[in-house]
Amino acid sequence: MGYNQKMYGLGSKRSIIREIFEYSKSRAAEIGAENVYDFSLGNPSVPAPADVNDTIRELLDTENSVLLHGYTSAQGDANVRKVIADNINERFGVGISPNLIYMTCGAAASLSICLKALVESGDDECIVFAPFFTEYRVFIENAGAKIVISTPAEKTLQIDLADFESRINENTKAVIVNSPNNPSGVVYTEETIKGLCEILRKKSHEYGKDIYLIADEPYRELVYSGVEVPYLMNYYDNTLVCYSYSKSLSLPGERIGYIAVCPKMNDCENIYLAVCGAGRSLGYVCAPSIFQHVIARCINAKVNVEAYKENRDLLYDNLTAYGYECVKPDGAFYLFVKALEEDAYKFYERAKAHEILVVPCDDFGVKGYVRVAYCTDKSKVLGALPAFEALAKEYNK
Ligand code: PLP
Repeated sequence: MGYNQKMYGLGSKRSIIREIFEYSKSRAAEIGAENVYDFSLGNPSVPAPADVNDTIRELLDTENSVLLHGYTSAQGDANVRKVIADNINERFGVGISPNLIYMTCGAAASLSICLKALVESGDDECIVFAPFFTEYRVFIENAGAKIVISTPAEKTLQIDLADFESRINENTKAVIVNSPNNPSGVVYTEETIKGLCEILRKKSHEYGKDIYLIADEPYRELVYSGVEVPYLMNYYDNTLVCYSYSKSLSLPGERIGYIAVCPKMNDCENIYLAVCGAGRSLGYVCAPSIFQHVIARCINAKVNVEAYKENRDLLYDNLTAYGYECVKPDGAFYLFVKALEEDAYKFYERAKAHEILVVPCDDFGVKGYVRVAYCTDKSKVLGALPAFEALAKEYNK
């Protein structure tokens, strides 16, 4: 066959989340959207801050149109990178220079670029912590490396440090940490992060090589009740941060984010050049120009995280009262609920009969759970509660 079968496989087999989303649309056409409780997709439900929309209008009205719509430098506009570097330094005190910031089309691009920049051979391995964002497998394999999955601590879904240590070997190239986590909503504690970084230092020394930490942080700002998310550059020098404004400013369709290379990393300037080379080889050219400028002008803008917190509280408090088990999430907008039977797919089907659409999570590296994405209107959450209760009763809860 005259085309790439691996790519054909990725294109022809839709992710389960997309599959459910499509079903949701057709079901809504049949019975009315208000009767379908779709918790499948991680699309922010809170609008982008008014500042962001005002700034877009202002840019269009006041800036030179040719420049505004033109290519920027491949690594991103110099002023935009300076604003971002200053903001990172103000918040986390890492002393990063704008020359270590690379603007991207969101976290998916950031991850693909970092992996491409680091992976050298097909023997290289990248460790991820279950439960994990399923696209990691695609990005890691596309960079030519192998995915290695570390299983979590059972009750808390924090990283199981002993399990993690046992997965590291001379081929370990990188480790991806995602906190707040998709799909669990768990924020890794400072103690967990310190333990993880200690192991990384020990193993790097033991194998005489650099092991890189990739911090995937699209949910950094979505945390509740003042929970702190440790900034990984402050704990481990060989860190690359993959940031995105998809969730923090509710701009997932606009494709804007960045990579920050830790200034304390060995050889950080050359790693940055490898990042630039990877972006080039993947054909990214530059991140969207208008949105680079929007970010520079709205660097302190915030979405209404309280709306997500209300949904989290409503769902967590009621679902646990109905007999469901889940870890109380401190961030992101996901609840990771233990299925009421062993097979998460069967449970998903039974939930579907109550018009509840959740995502079975076997592909996220943990069997027997479903993900409830509560980035939706509060009215939808309230409407779904009786259905969740009826579903639990079916299982004699
Ligand atoms: N990483 C995680 C953990 C995610 O949940 C997502 C999107 O849902 C991404 C990366 C990709 O985000 P972006 O829209 O910034 O590419």
